[in-house]
Amino acid sequence: MSKKQNNISLVWFKNDLRTNDNRSLLKAIANSHKVIGIYVFDPKQFDTNQFGFIKTDKFRAQFLIETVKELKANLESLNISLFIYFKNTAKAINNLNETFNFDAIFYQKEWTKEEANCITEVKTNLPLNINFIDTYDQFLFHPEDISYQFKDIPRVFTEFRKKCEKESSIRALKKIESVLPKANLVNNITSTPTIKDLGLEEFTTSTKTAFPFKGGENEALKRLENYFFETKKLGFYKKTRNGLIGTDYSSKFSAWLANGSISSKTIYWKIKEFEQNNFKNESTYWLVFELIWRDYFKYVSLKHGNKIFKIGGILNTDYGWETNKLKINKWINGQTKEPFVNANMLELKQTGWMSNRGRQNVASYFSKNLELDWRIGASYFESQLIDYDVHSNYGNWMYISGVGNDPRSRKFNVKLQSERYDTSGKFQRLWLQESLF
Ligand code: FAD
Repeated sequence: MSKKQNNISLVWFKNDLRTNDNRSLLKAIANSHKVIGIYVFDPKQFDTNQFGFIKTDKFRAQFLIETVKELKANLESLNISLFIYFKNTAKAINNLNETFNFDAIFYQKEWTKEEANCITEVKTNLPLNINFIDTYDQFLFHPEDISYQFKDIPRVFTEFRKKCEKESSIRALKKIESVLPKANLVNNITSTPTIKDLGLEEFTTSTKTAFPFKGGENEALKRLENYFFETKKLGFYKKTRNGLIGTDYSSKFSAWLANGSISSKTIYWKIKEFEQNNFKNESTYWLVFELIWRDYFKYVSLKHGNKIFKIGGILNTDYGWETNKLKINKWINGQTKEPFVNANMLELKQTGWMSNRGRQNVASYFSKNLELDWRIGASYFESQLIDYDVHSNYGNWMYISGVGNDPRSRKFNVKLQSERYDTSGKFQRLWLQESLF
C-alpha cells in the first residue's frame, strides 16, 4: 500500500490497547497522512448475558478504563488523538467518519461470534469506499508462520507445541519509525467514562488481593521489568507457578495480555533478553511454554468457531448437565462443601482474580462434582475475571469439563489438591471466616 495524497486513517482499538508492537497502528502510520484512533465502550459489553451475569463487571471495567486512559496519553505523545465513546460501536465509528471521511480503518482481526458480529455491523454502516485492513496481532506464533491450516490444528496441545517450536519462529518486534507531525492532533473533547457511567458499582480494591492490578501499557511494562529484571522472579517461575498467595508466584501478565496492553511477543523477547543477560533455566522456558498454551486456545477457537460456546463443546458430548440455581449460587458465594473451592470463589468475587490452580479446581468442581452446565461457570468467570480472554476462558473450561482438548477428561480431587497446594491452610484462612473452616 502506498501513501496516498492526504489520506486519513482510523485505528480502531479493541483488544490491542498498546502503542508498542501494534501492527495496526504501525501500518496506519506508515500508510497515511493523518491518523485518528478510536476506542468504544459498547453498552453491549456491559449488558446482562443469557445466564444473568453482567458481561463485563466492575473489576475488568475499572482495569479497562485505566488502560484506555493510558492509551490516550501514549497516543498523544505520538501526536495521535484517541476518540473515546460509550455508545454503540457502529454508530460511534459512523459518526466519526462523518467528520473525517476515512480512507481506511485498521484493526486487530477477531473471529469469535460477538466480536465478528460487531465488525460486520461496523462495515455495514460505512460507505463502501473505505478500506478495511485487519491484522492478526494477538499471537506468539503468527498464523502465517505455523505449519498447520486451522482445520488441522491437533487435538493435543503437546503435538501443536512441539511442531511450532521446531518449525516456526517468533517475529521480531517492530518500532514506529517516524512520528506523525504535531498537526496530526485534532480537537478532541472525548474522555473515558467512569465506572458509574458504565452502570457499575464503585469499589476499592481488597487489601487481600493477590495483586493490585492497574491497567495500562506502562503498567504492563513496569510489571515485566519488576518480575524479570528487578526481582529475577522469572528464574523461579516453574517452582512457584502453582502458588495461591502473593504478587510473585506467577507473572500476573494475563490481565494486560487479555486486553492487549502488552503483546505476547514483547514478553517472549524480554525472556530471551533475560536469558542472555542473566541465566536460562527450566523456569525461563516455562513461561514461554504457558504463552504457547495461550496461543493454542486461540487456534482451537479458530478451528472450531462457535462450538466453543456450545454445551457439547468441540467434542459434541452430552453429559446431561444440570442448571440448579441454588447450587450455582452456593458455588458463586463460596458456600459449597469444599473450603478450598469456597476460598477461591470468594477471592474471585472480592478481587476479580483467581490463581490458575484455583481456576482448575473450582471449574472441575462445578462441572464434574456438581455436574452443572459448564457454560454457566464460564460465563460467571467472563463477568468477574479481570483477565477474561474469550479463547483462554472457554478453551480451559471446555478442557476441564470434558468437552474440549483433554483426552484424559480428569476430575480434580479437591481435598487432595488443597492438601498439596495449601498445605498449611493459609490461603483458606485468608478468605474464609475462621468459623466456617
Ligand atoms: P502465568 O502462570 O504467569 O502464565 C503466563 C501467561 O501464560 C498467562 O498470563 C497466560 O497468558 C498464559 N497462560 C498460562 N496458563 C494458561 C492456560 N491454562 N491457558 C491459557 N493461557 C495460559 N487465562 C486468561 O488469560 N483469561 C481467562 O479468561 C482465563 N480463564 C481460565 C479459566 C479456567 C477454568 C482456567 C483453568 C484457566 C483460565 N485461564 C485464563 C488460564 C490461566 O489460569 C491464567 O492465564 C493464569 O492463571 C493467569 O495468571 P498469570 O498471568 O500469573 O499466569
